[in-house]
Amino acid sequence: MKRSPIADNTAKLLQRVRLSAEKSQRQTSDIVVLAVSKTRTAVDIREACAAGLNQFGESYLQEALGKMAELEDLPLTWHFIGPVQSNKTRSIATHFDWVHSVDREKIARRLSEQRPEGMAPLQVCLQVNISGESSKSGVSPDELPDLARAVAGLPRLRLRGLMAIPAATGDIAGQRRAFASLRQALQALKPTIAGLDTLSMGMSADLEAAIAEGSTIVRVGTAIFGSRDR
Ligand SMILES: *Cc1c(COP(=O)(O)O)cnc(C)c1O
Repeated sequence: MKRSPIADNTAKLLQRVRLSAEKSQRQTSDIVVLAVSKTRTAVDIREACAAGLNQFGESYLQEALGKMAELEDLPLTWHFIGPVQSNKTRSIATHFDWVHSVDREKIARRLSEQRPEGMAPLQVCLQVNISGESSKSGVSPDELPDLARAVAGLPRLRLRGLMAIPAATGDIAGQRRAFASLRQALQALKPTIAGLDTLSMGMSADLEAAIAEGSTIVRVGTAIFGSRDR
């Protein structure tokens, strides 16, 4: 049987992750590949799952809910990675395992209040605006410590770490500087907040630099599913 492009791409991607881990003397098993499936179909996700991926990231709530319903038979972990609007928090808190993009206390409070009782705590990363562009979402590095303290105290959330989407650059040294600053921000929080173990950083174009700087979750769309504007 001919292998699908998704299966081939996934095999190549996992090899990239393995090589990058080796170069930095890290364990491949310490790096989660989060398949970013926004704009992809449930069929695409099934193929990626057959190729060995089981964690999927979505940015658009309505689109995600439809695919989740179609894929209920698969043992998938769902991560919300897009901007979180207040009127979407209940549904996100009910249907997702992780949220990577919390950048305001108000949103965190709502997610905690609305996380259903019977479920495990919602796993949360704070999105940090490390490139300092005013148009980008994410808490500023200055405001991060206060937000982290507040979120760590919410009962139905578990604060796991930080996420960033640095400004795109082809310059490897520049990529590494941005990822290093997120790693240092996490390091600075660790003495006062327990349980921080996650750096959600690195995408298709810069995952090598992210892994070299300690990424524990790479969020990869294009390198698995192909270009989004097919
Ligand atoms: C779309 C998206 C990605 C994946 O980007 P690729 O370049 O396709 O790998 C990662 N993270 C976030 C937050 C995204 O929105």
